[in-house]
Amino acid sequence: MGFPLRLPIPDAVVRIAQRLETAGYETWCVGGAIRDNLLGLENHDFDLTTAAPPADVRRLFKRTVPVGIEHGTVAVLDSDNRAHEITTFRKDIKTDGRHAVVEFGVSLMDDLARRDFTVNAIAYHPLRHEWRDPFSGAADLDAKLIRSVGDPNWRFQEDYLRILRALRFSARFDFRIHPRTLEAAKANVQGLAQLSAERVRDEWFKGIATAGRVSKLVQLWVDVGAARIWLPEIVGKREQGGGTSALENLPRDPVLITAHLASDPASLLTRLKCSNKDIERGRAIGRWRDTYPDPKHLAQVRKWLSEAGDYADDLLALPSSPSPLSRVVAAIRAAKDPLTLKDLAVTGDDLLAAGVRPGPGVGEALERLLGEVLEDPARNTRDYLLSRV
Ligand code: ATP
Ligand code: MG
Repeated sequence: MGFPLRLPIPDAVVRIAQRLETAGYETWCVGGAIRDNLLGLENHDFDLTTAAPPADVRRLFKRTVPVGIEHGTVAVLDSDNRAHEITTFRKDIKTDGRHAVVEFGVSLMDDLARRDFTVNAIAYHPLRHEWRDPFSGAADLDAKLIRSVGDPNWRFQEDYLRILRALRFSARFDFRIHPRTLEAAKANVQGLAQLSAERVRDEWFKGIATAGRVSKLVQLWVDVGAARIWLPEIVGKREQGGGTSALENLPRDPVLITAHLASDPASLLTRLKCSNKDIERGRAIGRWRDTYPDPKHLAQVRKWLSEAGDYADDLLALPSSPSPLSRVVAAIRAAKDPLTLKDLAVTGDDLLAAGVRPGPGVGEALERLLGEVLEDPARNTRDYLLSRV
């Protein structure tokens, strides 16, 4: 691939680079935005890498945020309050598969060499418009290949997350993973067990959000063995022949898609240390996805809506949802039919005033009335309901 003469670097980024270069520090654009622009994809989020030590970056700019100071990353805020990440040239001198001890004050070449894949290790000089591509990343972009920089076994053992990053980039761009890189990913997959659940979850969710086809991402996680370690409920469901149907038609909502793919969504989302809200959402999907109401039976649909509550829309989005159900639900919602205790024409206080004894009987009576109203919304009048207690 020939490199374009110029990339459209935003003015704010050029100004930051100018200030660093004027202070005597070599500064280059690197990473995802370079890769994406070479692929013809829009990405204005150019990261900078510089010879300036983090303390000097902070000194040279008025407004900075130490977003990852231990890795040498400082964000500089421009006049529009946009953050631009600047990372000091670094080299990993010690790694244990999860964390790295880094050394600053190295060269651009060292910095590119510690990057994960060749397509992510291309540098462009925003002022001189020069290119540095010591690992032939541009050729791999042409060949649609994800390939480790250097020895893949070594690179995965330094940071096992890179295995998952390879799967994510492969699914996102529909690139093949180079045979030796793929082989090393499989050989080192057990190392994924050492990663924190949060990092794995972020990677998995980002993969779902960005994959060209989600089914390709899932297939890669299964083939490489990552699913066996972190997503066994997905492997289980696939073995039962379920979960993957109509995957591409689902909204790109990582929790919804994960729940759909899993035999036991709550246990999977718990392992990934998702929020309680997400875990409950997964649990509801697992509990309800096989028991839809008959769309022809309005009272049944209202009862289902009442019980499924906030989860109804998730359940409607799943491929197992009977197709006319969405339309029936839309009609019920448009009619503003009462569906919850709050919608009843009477309150607990009304029942007490009408002589119901205080205590659990009040709640039970309200539930019974709601049941009647779900059968027939016309019953939701004060007079009718009080006549029933
Ligand atoms: P995205 O579009 O997902 O942001 P990206 O390539 O910009 O893709 P980032 O996670 O933002 O990915 O990282 C920026 C750059 O830092 C990468 O392009 C790569 O060069 C390097 N990098 C990030 N994570 C790692 C890692 N775990 N090991 C080695 N290099 C990494
Ligand atoms: Mg990025």
